Amino acid sequence: MDRSLALILDEDETQRVINTLERADRNHQLWLRRLHSGLITGRPAFTDDILDPAAHQRCKFGLWYYHEAAGVIREHPHFTAIESLHRRMHDQGRLLAGKAQEGRAIREDEYAHFMDLQKGLCERLVGLREELQVLRYSFDALTGTLNRQACELLLNQEFARVSREQETCCLSLVDIDHFKSINDSYGHMVGDQVIKTLSGLLREQLRPYDTICRYGGEEFLISLPNTDLAQAEEILERLRREIAGREIGFEAGDIRVTVSCGLARLDTRVPLAETVRRADEALYAAKAAGRNCIRVAAETCC
Ligand code: GH3
Ligand code: MG
Ligand code: MG
Repeated sequence: MDRSLALILDEDETQRVINTLERADRNHQLWLRRLHSGLITGRPAFTDDILDPAAHQRCKFGLWYYHEAAGVIREHPHFTAIESLHRRMHDQGRLLAGKAQEGRAIREDEYAHFMDLQKGLCERLVGLREELQVLRYSFDALTGTLNRQACELLLNQEFARVSREQETCCLSLVDIDHFKSINDSYGHMVGDQVIKTLSGLLREQLRPYDTICRYGGEEFLISLPNTDLAQAEEILERLRREIAGREIGFEAGDIRVTVSCGLARLDTRVPLAETVRRADEALYAAKAAGRNCIRVAAETCC
């Protein structure tokens, strides 16, 4: 799974983009048929969606890409690649149509170039759609954050990247304190809403490129890339304070929750599971220390 997509798309947006790509594929197949028909029959009667120099901005995909899609999506390499192929395919299609209308011969290389662009676009649309289908099943139903399976996949990628680029990265396990008593006092449904609210707070407080996933019932795993232990502790401390200071409003009354955090630096000399285990140990230490606090795992010695 592509981590960079998981960072910019939530569950609903993923589905919307899948639909957009499906439609783009279908519509451009029909567009291609009409263009071919005009070229082959020798009775070209091309419409604006073929002849207009801005046709690539006016088709449904173009309208979405240039006017509706969020900047982070538009600038993502997968989408810029599609934009470029799409624009050049329309340009080349217009060139072929223009020549046909003027009764001029189309060179073989001009046609081959057009077909290469069209094939490239089609492959990109399908490839990205498949990537997004995987992403769609990677979200936790209650919170909309990534689920544990997706998290493990992403963490493995992160592990490889951190090793390769010799970066620093920290992992933290964040667990709600005395959550059982919230369920016992207010019921499971309210408990669910507390988990959901907490996941929203995590997203709000953390940086856009931090990964958040629901690791267990009321436990979240957070990956903090490009961050050393001191910075990570600062980020978590801010998060902890913010959560402890919030009141979550329910019909049954306002609920305050606190969280405990275990923090560990991702050590690429040992298996990933070992860092997660150390973060879990640190979480256990935070619970033992009275909860509503952060504990940092000791660095592994070489
Ligand atoms: P601690 O401070 O030690 O973490 O105590 P705790 O009560 O939070 O921890 P414990 O692990 O004993 O209990 C967690 C509870 O979370 C038990 C389980 O019933 C509840 N739980 C797990 N998943 C869900 C969920 O999806 N929704 C709700 N409402 N409760 C859940
Ligand atoms: Mg708990
Ligand atoms: Mg727990």
